[in-house]
Amino acid sequence: MPKTERWQWYVEQFSPSEEHRHAIEEFYYAGRTPYQSVGVVRTPAFGKMLILDGDTQSSQADEKIYHETLVHPALAAAADRSQILILGGGEGATLREVLRCPDVERATMVDIDAQVVELSKRYLPEWSAGAFDDPRARVIIGDALRFLDEDQSRYGAIISDLTEPLEDSPSHPLFGAPVFAAIKARLQDGGIYVLQASTAGVHNCGLHAKMARSLRGFYRHVRSFYTHVPAFDNDWAFIACSDAVDLAKLDERTIARYVDALPGENLFYDAQTHRRLFALPLYLRRELEKKGDTF
Ligand code: SAM
Repeated sequence: MPKTERWQWYVEQFSPSEEHRHAIEEFYYAGRTPYQSVGVVRTPAFGKMLILDGDTQSSQADEKIYHETLVHPALAAAADRSQILILGGGEGATLREVLRCPDVERATMVDIDAQVVELSKRYLPEWSAGAFDDPRARVIIGDALRFLDEDQSRYGAIISDLTEPLEDSPSHPLFGAPVFAAIKARLQDGGIYVLQASTAGVHNCGLHAKMARSLRGFYRHVRSFYTHVPAFDNDWAFIACSDAVDLAKLDERTIARYVDALPGENLFYDAQTHRRLFALPLYLRRELEKKGDTF
């Protein structure tokens, strides 16, 4: 066993009574931007890791689980994949996964924090893997809220890869009925809105259920899906919204055709994984059926 007492520790606090600790082998960066605190570290268990406001955003060992899950079910189901919008997504891995799809002609990514994007390019280049230099990528540094207000384009899929909507986070204003309406207005007919949608554990799925309840007022099909993300030490949920397609019922042949057309190999997502992602445990289905507050 290594001598753990020599290590420094990054302590992620999930709640006042719950913490997860990662040993730090190397510090690459620690500081504050105008929007959030940023840490870039290397840990023995997960390799390099991006931390914003004390929350793990992604890790080298398992970021593909998170990013393939966020991107590919939605793109597999989208009727038109030519124009895609990403809200947030600072590390560039969501952009990377979107650009793997050969049908994508333009992927627009809007992140508020230039420093997070620059630090990701410098210390975490494996995440973007050249995506920032792809001629199909349009990267805008700015508030996604303002972008949605000013932009007149329409997209086949809008992918929200924002930080958790905690009160003091710059992503907080992007959760609310007027913004959900603005996002819907930017979707093409039959388009899909997918978002990273917080934790899905039996003890911490309340925020996720609140997001799903809020979105049900806007779309015919609102489907939660989830997977375990080891570096988060949590089951992590996502929500896919559409008037045209119920992602839980997407057929295997459509998924297989979509996955087969991607260059390179997926680590996590295929038709079998899709079924598993959308098969929700009873406690989560019950939570989603409850009446309660909305954004
Ligand atoms: N995987 C993530 C998680 O676990 O929460 C999210 C990944 S990504 C790093 C989140 C990005 O959202 C950050 O780069 C942050 O700068 C961006 N962001 C937060 N608020 C934003 C806003 N209002 N407009 C655009 N980008 C925003």
